[in-house]
Amino acid sequence: MSDNTLSTSIEYLKGVGPKRAEVLRSELGVTTFNDLLKHFPFRYIDKTSFHKISDIASEMEPVQLIGQFIRVKEIGVGRKMRLSAIFEDQSGQIELVWFKGAKWVKPKLLANKQFVVYGRPKYYGGKWNIPHPDFELKADIDKKGGSRFVPVYPSTEKLGSMGLNSNGIVKLMQQLMPQVINEIKETLPRELLAKERLVSRNQAFQWVHFPDSMDDALRARGRMKFEELLLIQILLLQQKIVNTTRMPGVRFSKVGDFFNRFYNDHLGFELTGAQKRVMKEIRADVNSGHHMNRLIQGDVGSGKTIVALLAGLLAIDNGFQVCLMAPTEILAQQHYTGFLELLSPLGLNVQLLTGSVKTQKRREIHEGLENGEVHVLIGTHALIEPKVKFQNLGLAIIDEQHRFGVKQRAKLWAKSSIPPHILVMTATPIPRTLSMTLYGDLDVSVIDELPPGRKQVKTVHRTDAHRLTIFHFLKEEIAKGRQVYIVYPLIEESSAMDYKDLMDGYESVSRSFPAPDYQLSIVHGKMKPEDKDFEMQRFVSGQTQIMVATTVIEVGVNVPNATVMVIESSERFGLSQLHQLRGRVGRGGEQSFCILMTGDKLSQDSRKRIKTMCDTTDGFVIAEVDLELRGPGDIMGTQQSGVMDLKIADLVKDQHILERAREVATGILDLDPDLEKPENKTLRDSIKKILKFKKNWSKIS
Ligand code: ADP
Ligand code: MG
Repeated sequence: MSDNTLSTSIEYLKGVGPKRAEVLRSELGVTTFNDLLKHFPFRYIDKTSFHKISDIASEMEPVQLIGQFIRVKEIGVGRKMRLSAIFEDQSGQIELVWFKGAKWVKPKLLANKQFVVYGRPKYYGGKWNIPHPDFELKADIDKKGGSRFVPVYPSTEKLGSMGLNSNGIVKLMQQLMPQVINEIKETLPRELLAKERLVSRNQAFQWVHFPDSMDDALRARGRMKFEELLLIQILLLQQKIVNTTRMPGVRFSKVGDFFNRFYNDHLGFELTGAQKRVMKEIRADVNSGHHMNRLIQGDVGSGKTIVALLAGLLAIDNGFQVCLMAPTEILAQQHYTGFLELLSPLGLNVQLLTGSVKTQKRREIHEGLENGEVHVLIGTHALIEPKVKFQNLGLAIIDEQHRFGVKQRAKLWAKSSIPPHILVMTATPIPRTLSMTLYGDLDVSVIDELPPGRKQVKTVHRTDAHRLTIFHFLKEEIAKGRQVYIVYPLIEESSAMDYKDLMDGYESVSRSFPAPDYQLSIVHGKMKPEDKDFEMQRFVSGQTQIMVATTVIEVGVNVPNATVMVIESSERFGLSQLHQLRGRVGRGGEQSFCILMTGDKLSQDSRKRIKTMCDTTDGFVIAEVDLELRGPGDIMGTQQSGVMDLKIADLVKDQHILERAREVATGILDLDPDLEKPENKTLRDSIKKILKFKKNWSKIS
């Protein structure tokens, strides 16, 4: 069978033509029959049931009535003229009004005939009426037959002006469906359809556009969502098979001197159960002979870094080099300081490479990497420049994955003839359903346990009226020798308004906390990196007690002595950002506090965000709420949009379908990883087709 009809240009569908075709393209991206077929309704109107006139009580929902016209008259004259019709059912009467087209409407409003009326009620002058309702003779509806479930399609003003509002699109669908219905090919194996109780693809398209009942519509959509999610999961899981079992990996077969000495003599604490479990998972990966591609998810402060460092020691024990890439200069610096402190007693050579390292030093580092003197290289994006070559890179650690494009991950692979093992750390807990889709090609380890002795950060919501009390509280904490963050939103580093808020805030804090008793640091994105570092270092070393900053401190910064996080205009931050910021405190043994400042008026979403923060410190709970409030697209940003580009499934609402799709995909690939068996031919063809359209798939994931 050919795709000819489906690939026909939409222009040639009866009722379209060149002008409408152009608007369909520009407004909806619809250029072919196939595109239109995949323009799905976003809801359905149930016209099988009727409202009683006496029940009308809301302007929100349209109503459908059945009854008769008992009086029709024109009121007023000239332009002000309106047509008023009193419509009656068994429960009462309501006025229907037309401000335009009276001449055309009036003759159709016959007396003593049953009519069906559909429209949105309005409350006006103490009474209900329905302006410009749709109406149709009951007898005509009965004669026509057909579905009384009317799909509502996404449309735009421009489309509407060309007769392509939702109803106009319905008419196009009525043209389209008979022409293409026999060309809609099945994409899933028949056995699978039967087992999962799914309708055929053909039936699904028919029902999604022309359901006879709500149940039909739901079954159709269920089938389409399942298909969409299943095929993505198969792609991701196949990618994972390629990345891991199919790709050779260097072997860290022995646990050697460096690891043992560090673990026994330098670690200074017992790993948590979760850390030990993740360590075991990593050790199994790196000793398998296959390439490791593993994500460690763990809340702020759960101890991911130490796990990564231990993995690094395994690499070094087996004669390999390690690199650690961080998203910001400050973080790279901090990792460097931490690693240096822990690793130099073992005689290991740790270097820092960032954009601000001077040429001479840079050259030395390049040399040291190539001749194997440097064991661990820590840095920012500067690490992946082609000039940076390793003698034998065995492990690449990436901190805070969500700041890195996935392309950058791929560049790291190229740094060694056998790609280095990849360990990605992220402190942004991602709901399971989302990570299944975003990181479906990675193995995921979760550190879901905080080191013992941590006190939960107490979080409160305050407004400007409390400022004096808050400053007083900050002074008490500082008097105890603690340090304080005050964070301002700087959503766009270039936003002049935000910048002014920050500076005003800084001035006001300086007045309330005057030198020499108090020392302040300020850090924001407009500063030169070396100035930022200088200020940061003063705070880290305890020379300053207050850090006034924008979100540049969000990621990973570790000052255990800081016990208070004040977040100004916190209603402007997203949940995951708030959670990240709060994670900057509570890192030492002392009770810590997070104070969420807001204005007096809050939107419902802001209120929910603030409440969630006050109610829980569990990053996974917060991530679920975040997903619910923002939707998946926003959470990960656009870099992942290739994967997130779902046409019909919804990662929030369709979690159970996704779970099932994942299970089914795993089951199929366990038995037949390349989809070579005859029963999987349909699936193989479907996947091939997707790959043709997503040439960059392997780069995306
Ligand atoms: P993350 O990178 O997950 O935010 P870190 O690895 O930076 O967390 O750890 C936060 C702090 O907790 C560090 O000071 C680290 O030394 C300490 N730490 C990590 N694991 C443990 C543990 N098992 N017991 C006690 N302290 C720990
Ligand atoms: Mg960290």
